[in-house]
Amino acid sequence: MIRRLAPLLIAFGLLTALPAAGAAASQFPPGYEGYHTYDEMVTEIHDIAAAHPDIVALSVIGQSYEGRDLWAVKISDNVNTDENEPEVVFTALTHAREHLTVEQALALIHWLVDGYGQPGNERTDAIVNSTVIWVLPELNPDGGEFDIKGGHFHGWRKNRQPTPGSTSIGTDINRNYGYHWGCCGGSSADPASYLYRGPAAWSTPEARAERSFFASRVIGGQQQIRMVLNLHSHAERIIYPYGYTTTPVPPDMVRRDHRIMAAIAGGMADRNGYRPSQASHWYIMSGTANDWIYHRYRIPSFTMELGPSASVHHFNLPSDQIGPETEVNKDALLWFLEQAPCPSAVIGDTCGTRPSSAPAPAVAAWQMRPSMDLRGSLPI
Ligand SMILES: [Zn+2]
Repeated sequence: MIRRLAPLLIAFGLLTALPAAGAAASQFPPGYEGYHTYDEMVTEIHDIAAAHPDIVALSVIGQSYEGRDLWAVKISDNVNTDENEPEVVFTALTHAREHLTVEQALALIHWLVDGYGQPGNERTDAIVNSTVIWVLPELNPDGGEFDIKGGHFHGWRKNRQPTPGSTSIGTDINRNYGYHWGCCGGSSADPASYLYRGPAAWSTPEARAERSFFASRVIGGQQQIRMVLNLHSHAERIIYPYGYTTTPVPPDMVRRDHRIMAAIAGGMADRNGYRPSQASHWYIMSGTANDWIYHRYRIPSFTMELGPSASVHHFNLPSDQIGPETEVNKDALLWFLEQAPCPSAVIGDTCGTRPSSAPAPAVAAWQMRPSMDLRGSLPI
């Protein structure tokens, strides 16, 4: 897209307004052209929105360090109305080299919108009609573009933000969120590390954009987002909070929430064969999106690690594997979406007297009284 605009911008003397890294188009190496570059992803979601204006709407939730737009794809019936329906968020490409996550995000969008309203699509139509789905297909576009710069893979993970006082580039966005940031050996203070957590929590514009987006979904004091799934690769795992401690139910978690998250992870695993566990039972990780999302808003939040860990291709499965590796998660992801109206149903619990489309509990109450179980009548 930047390439197409360049002649026009030069004519108007505006080229200097473009981010330097964006001026050089990136491309995938031979055999991997099936993956979407940032520009190709942006074109793709615009094409989808143009083809389905009643159920797809695009927005920008912020900019990356190098100034690229961070896109959000909203999918729902009456998409231009803010309906009182349960909302679900999917994120992808937090880590630059995990390109398969972009393809999974785009595949999910196509499953939901292609053939909407036509016979044979009753399952996805029911999801679109009862739920608001937000897909953030690239949270780290700078890193993603750098990873394929020059037409070969760089194995890059972090964003492309310089660190003051260091020659090292980049912060691991998924160690930069503001809950238990920098604790417990779950990240690195070394700017050269691929697990560098940044000089402070929320130092990355990408994490801050996501924080603002979540805040924007608090309406009338009530968080509208019911569930979150962060797409990463690779390990064929499904993990849930907390990552900062190996204790399954520490004081900052409600036992019932833990049961719900374990059951939802298990339900997805039943459908795609992945391995479910608490994040820290894989390895200790701190300052993650999952931990912050759950603690801040009590939203059940998951990470799905796409693709086989034993693959000789490591992070870079060839293009011909994109179809099979994304398709294996179709039933798991649709089932996940079907839990949004009442996530506690997976443990045989009801959602109380609230109608199934009622918003989640008030944020302030959870912040003030973390020992209270706000979502139902069961004791902790
Ligand atoms: Zn990752």
